[in-house]
Amino acid sequence: MDAILLKLSREWVTPVHKMVYNDFMKVRRAYKYRFYPNQQQRIQLAQTFGSCRFVYNWALRLRTDAYYQHQQKMSYKETSNQLTNLKKNPDFSWLKDVTAVPLQQALRHLNTAFLNFFSGRAKYPKFKKKRNKQSATYASNAFKWDGEKLTLAKMKSPLLIRWHRHFTGVPTTVTVSKDSANRYFVSFSVEEEIEQLPENDEQLLKDTASHIAIDLGIKDVIVSSKGLSSGNPKHYRKYEKKLAKLQKRLAKKQKGSKNRDKARLKVAKLHAKIADCRRDFLHKLTIQLIRENQVVITESLAVKNMIKNHKLAKAIADASWGELIRQLDYKASWYGRVLVQVDRFFPSSKRCHACGHVLDKLPLEIREWDCVCGSHNLRDYNAALNLLAVGRTVLAYGDTSVGDTAIAVSSQVSSK
Ligand SMILES: [Zn+2]
Repeated sequence: MDAILLKLSREWVTPVHKMVYNDFMKVRRAYKYRFYPNQQQRIQLAQTFGSCRFVYNWALRLRTDAYYQHQQKMSYKETSNQLTNLKKNPDFSWLKDVTAVPLQQALRHLNTAFLNFFSGRAKYPKFKKKRNKQSATYASNAFKWDGEKLTLAKMKSPLLIRWHRHFTGVPTTVTVSKDSANRYFVSFSVEEEIEQLPENDEQLLKDTASHIAIDLGIKDVIVSSKGLSSGNPKHYRKYEKKLAKLQKRLAKKQKGSKNRDKARLKVAKLHAKIADCRRDFLHKLTIQLIRENQVVITESLAVKNMIKNHKLAKAIADASWGELIRQLDYKASWYGRVLVQVDRFFPSSKRCHACGHVLDKLPLEIREWDCVCGSHNLRDYNAALNLLAVGRTVLAYGDTSVGDTAIAVSSQVSSK
């Protein structure tokens, strides 16, 4: 008897989403577009970004001193009052040259960063640097939106936005930003009702045809239990040589020189291009998975401590597993799907899906193997089938069984 016991515990089984039974769900959604500011807008934006960054850093200093020197937690309100005083100081009157709203929003962002820190969700807030991404958030009283054109406070003309899709609903805030490749973006935060994809009931959840498990990999970003191999557009690999060349060139440039700035910009632009390609690829992949399936089962990401090999680690970063899970996560919640995450340490690759036999070891370069039971196993596909079995167990026992209970996946594991 060689039954395999699966120890289900909070650490490694996380059913992320509860079902959504209603047909509509309200979600806050961000729509991001590129825009092209004219000369005057560019100057105004540079001023606004600079002032926001200054206010953020200034308030961070205030709150840090209060925290470390007097063990006091300074509130948003207090920083806001201090800002009003600061603006009265003639040395800082330039702060009045820009719209007040984004400055207030910078204080709010800082406040959120502190709340996240105090609750243990994030590290201590950091000072913002000029060369990183710049941004400013405008609340609804600081912009005009007529359904087609967006005009920010103090600006004479609307922004020239490249629309690639439209949204309905009224934006509550807009955030403008400039990335390190000097590209400008505007992001509309809109509250929307999202229609759930085909109705979601107990029956559908039991309908095993609507379940899919995906094995995360390198050769293919995913291999699914339904036999789909996604491939891995190795954008990074393709651009890698070019990137290395540009970085080498950058390193040779004298610090503070114009040429160095130019070289730095080239590197940033290539990075941005790679990230765009990757995101696009993953969006297509995740929406397909969410559309076609009711339940998506995947491994959770204990990626960081999983692999020490640097070459491989880079390839993992390239495959963007984190981004994939992130997209699956929010899309599942939007469309009333269920995402089940199972921890990696389940021997999904080494275990034969047909008989449950577990190999002692299975080196990474071995892509297929023959089991003692006669099953010819393709490494990733076999792993996906194992995940499917574990995921279904998690689903069947639900949240309540998640504890220190040991559960045998009897339907999948036969004794030898
Ligand atoms: Zn077997």
